[in-house]
Amino acid sequence: MPTSVLELKSVDRHYVQGPNTLTILKNADFSLLPGEMVALVAPSGTGKSTLLHIAGLLEHPDDGDVVVNGQSCAGLSDDRRTEIRRKEIGFVYQFHHLLPEFTALENVMMPQLIAGLSPAEARERAGQLLAYMKLGPRVEHRPSELSGGEQQRVAIARAVANAPLVLLADEPTGNLDPETAGYVFEALEAIVRHSGLAALIATHNEELAARMDRRVTLSEGRVVELPKK
Ligand code: ADP
Repeated sequence: MPTSVLELKSVDRHYVQGPNTLTILKNADFSLLPGEMVALVAPSGTGKSTLLHIAGLLEHPDDGDVVVNGQSCAGLSDDRRTEIRRKEIGFVYQFHHLLPEFTALENVMMPQLIAGLSPAEARERAGQLLAYMKLGPRVEHRPSELSGGEQQRVAIARAVANAPLVLLADEPTGNLDPETAGYVFEALEAIVRHSGLAALIATHNEELAARMDRRVTLSEGRVVELPKK
């Protein structure tokens, strides 16, 4: 049995709003194997983003543990969690969150420079990734000069720039028309398959979800496997 690259173990998360406690995750268990692509399909407000933020070490669970590549993160300092997140995890959001004053190439170089690569190395890899995402002719464009689909492909290239083990995506095609969503997903799928990283992708798009290796949902705070389509 291959070792999971990402595990959630009995994760609890609740939000306190005035006198009310909103339980979002309760004893949530989840495991992602290397190279696996998993769809997270659940109605709005059920906790998909919360789960992804916890899995991506952006948010602390109230209880339970997140294990990244065998490393338990429960007792780690914030600095160490940030280090693991930068090395092992890539994130794609519904909105691209690219830095507006930088070009596509510079946006993809940025995480690599932060990780300590030289500008020449970062530039070369960013160029390769953008070419792979069929954005070669657009590398010098700023986000505002790119279409929604192009912006998302740059965001995907940026998320995988440091060759993470895990890609977490929160409705990565949610803001795009169906045709554009289709080809952005194809680009995402190609890069995930090509690089062998594992991905957990929240989506409302049933058609795209059905193309992944398995589908999970959230029910009463737990992660539940959906039957194969
Ligand atoms: P989804 O991604 O499935 O739409 P979220 O994880 O964003 O769901 O949110 C799950 C629930 O938790 C929602 O009801 C939301 O209003 C609530 N929630 C999310 N973040 C917070 C927060 N920081 N404080 C209070 N409630 C929150």
